[in-house]
Amino acid sequence: MNALVKKYPKEGLWLEEVPVPEMGKNDVMIKIEKTSICGTDVHIYNWDKWSSETVPTPMVIGHEYVGRIVGYGDNVKGFRIGELVSGEGHIVCGHCRNCLAGRRHLCINTSGVGVNRPGAFAEYLVIPATNVWLCDENIDRDVISCFDPLGNAVHTALSFDLVGEDVLITGAGPIGIMASAIAKKAGARYVVITDVNPYRLELAKKMGAITVDVSKSTIRDTMQQLGIKEGFDVGLEMSGNARAFNDMIDCMEHGGKIAMLGIQSKDTLIDWNKIVFNGINIKGIYGREMFETWYKMTSMIQSGLDISEVITHRYHYTDFQKGFDAMNSGKSGKVVLSWDK
Ligand code: NAD
Ligand code: ZN
Repeated sequence: MNALVKKYPKEGLWLEEVPVPEMGKNDVMIKIEKTSICGTDVHIYNWDKWSSETVPTPMVIGHEYVGRIVGYGDNVKGFRIGELVSGEGHIVCGHCRNCLAGRRHLCINTSGVGVNRPGAFAEYLVIPATNVWLCDENIDRDVISCFDPLGNAVHTALSFDLVGEDVLITGAGPIGIMASAIAKKAGARYVVITDVNPYRLELAKKMGAITVDVSKSTIRDTMQQLGIKEGFDVGLEMSGNARAFNDMIDCMEHGGKIAMLGIQSKDTLIDWNKIVFNGINIKGIYGREMFETWYKMTSMIQSGLDISEVITHRYHYTDFQKGFDAMNSGKSGKVVLSWDK
């Protein structure tokens, strides 16, 4: 089968012929139809410090996808050939304390599809049946291919009650932009999103958010215009940028709640006294809740949440280079690769 492979430990990605993955008795085999490119795939493409320390080569990468079931192992029940599915990219152990308690997103032995084991940028993918999510045929396949990052946005945004609250999102990447639409749908009053990239701020504005270009103005100016006196009730950190996180801490009301998805560098400094004296709650977010997040995002889309505008580029997988160039340019939202013939 064809697959996009991180073949050598250096920048790039290679379209290769590789064996179809083997299927165990608890596994499902999926024929991939659409995939989308994650920031993580771009890190692996660019071969940054994190990927060179984490990803063994050769490795078929990719973990955002939709496809159809073409086979399953003897122990698998509840699925049929031809069903439209996506899947949770975190494969969990099933026997640690959190797994046993049903909090599988907090598993201590997580392994990542397309990071630690063969991924979805391939004609066929094999994952355990316990990671498969059955999809609604009425939802556009391009949109389903983005369920993994949409799930990050849903998990983060729904961490705290948003009804009537003012929400600050730092980072208008694809996940931040999707989170802004989710926060509005969940009942927030004002949703303000920041970035320094005009292309992305424009995309966020199109999807209904109030935007702040923090290279030109301040969040406080926008607060004043909106009449937000004491600060934001909820913060969603989705940039991974130290300055953005500090901006957020400065603009939270006392007792405000911050959900952190963005991956900060180890040496990010903050003024801890603001956290203590202002009574700020910070919650770390990793991945998606299995499968509560998948349920919520499906039903929100079924009831009118529209994230299709965040998909800005579409290519055939043989044109993957154009897709990675678009992602690296900063002038893209989600990039979808089609695996249709
Ligand atoms: P992205 O890199 O596409 O978006 C981040 C955005 O932050 C960019 O548009 C960038 O211009 C912006 N930014 C940079 N400096 C800023 C500043 N000072 N103020 C405001 N914005 C600024 O990332 P994404 O794919 O949308 O993901 C969002 C974040 O979540 C990333 O840090 C990513 O690594 C992380 N992530 C975490 C998980 C998890 O499970 N915790 C999963 C997926 C992604
Ligand atoms: Zn576990």
